[in-house]
Amino acid sequence: MTAVKKSGVLFASNNDTNDTNHLPIPVFENSPTFKMALRQLHSVAEHINIDSGVLERLSRPKRSMVVSVPVRMDNGRTEVFAGYRVQHSLTSGPAKGGLRFHPSVDLGEVAALAMWMSWKCGIMNLPFGGAKGGIACDPSKMSMAEKEGVTRRFTSEVLSIIGPHSDVMAPDLGTDEQTMAWIYDTYSMSIGYACPEVVTGKPVELGGCHGRREATGRGVVYCIREALHELNLKPTESTAVVQGFGNVGTVVCQELSALNVRVIAVGDRSGAVRNPRGIEIHALNRHVNIEGKPLKDFPDAEAISSEELLATPCTIMVPAALERVITLKNAHQLRCRILAEGANGPTTPEADEILASSDIFVIPDILCNAGGVTVSYFEWVQDLQRLFWSESQVNDRLRELMGEAFQRVRKEARDRNISMRMAALSLGVQKTAHEKMRRGLYP
Ligand code: GLU
Repeated sequence: MTAVKKSGVLFASNNDTNDTNHLPIPVFENSPTFKMALRQLHSVAEHINIDSGVLERLSRPKRSMVVSVPVRMDNGRTEVFAGYRVQHSLTSGPAKGGLRFHPSVDLGEVAALAMWMSWKCGIMNLPFGGAKGGIACDPSKMSMAEKEGVTRRFTSEVLSIIGPHSDVMAPDLGTDEQTMAWIYDTYSMSIGYACPEVVTGKPVELGGCHGRREATGRGVVYCIREALHELNLKPTESTAVVQGFGNVGTVVCQELSALNVRVIAVGDRSGAVRNPRGIEIHALNRHVNIEGKPLKDFPDAEAISSEELLATPCTIMVPAALERVITLKNAHQLRCRILAEGANGPTTPEADEILASSDIFVIPDILCNAGGVTVSYFEWVQDLQRLFWSESQVNDRLRELMGEAFQRVRKEARDRNISMRMAALSLGVQKTAHEKMRRGLYP
């Protein structure tokens, strides 16, 4: 299979097979993560009333851009990184989604994440389509100057497809407020005036939104509170296990501790630790995020393997790291009552079938981690209006929107006797599909 370019979009051509009737296959379809997203879409399509043409359009991204990002490294050598920006849909408004820096980033993964962003914005009724970007690099091994170089050059390479009304980036894995400040500056310099509304998740002093950094983790915990209530469980009698101690995982641990939920095990790339009496989250935060020490060396807890982490009995399990970590191999080992998916795509469809036949209450990713993009929406609106909200306004509105979305998904699941994931996907897909139908096909 060879890659060909059609009007700026990269496709894999199946010329090799001489099958001229066959549609070109976008290269991302070779990716396991994209296949997973597509499989979810098609299984939802069996349960909802969706036009076949619209389904075909939603099965592939609207626009994908692949760029080379050359950067002068501190040692004087030039390194070229692969960068991607995929816009799954532009139907409901600007494309919206994060930019991640991670060594394993590829076009298929970014395309899957972009599709999930569309469904996420759909569930939350946000006026955005889904997008995602990524650069295949390891930010933990790069200096500030190198990260700035990568960010600024990537921004200038994708300049023609981003903008406050076409595609608005935000932080994701391996990127943060500083990354957004560089994108904001690069974009503004190129157009000649300050345009804070081109990115969200910026520093507050540059037009960022109070509470944006904490928003994804807070949203996860608002959903957990709804689920505990639904299951008649008390936070004070509940325990939690959190996989991931980055932006989302750290805030989830802090917010759960504030509710007096006992966080008994936490893991990250370095390994995992467990303490049945409860881990002191302040101390763990200082150890990992301030002193920069490996999480697995945290004193006052027993070091365990990543497999043991997921198998630890608890009330609430929160995967808050990478996609596809709960698989056919380990799904039957989960011993939790609630699975709150802080990460995007942590559960494979095969594992999902196992969960569906268990009594685990799943809060699916596109609902559970939607707090981040929701507060991004608040930030974008504030920047467009140059009118700013207080942190309590942001948090109150976030809690309200997350609570309403949770109840909409719960009702759909109950009314149609389907899983929470299927209900969330149905609502997200139907919102986008409906708008596509009403707008019609151009020209
Ligand atoms: N990267 C986050 C996500 O996956 C936030 C996206 C945004 O705020 O646009 O939902």
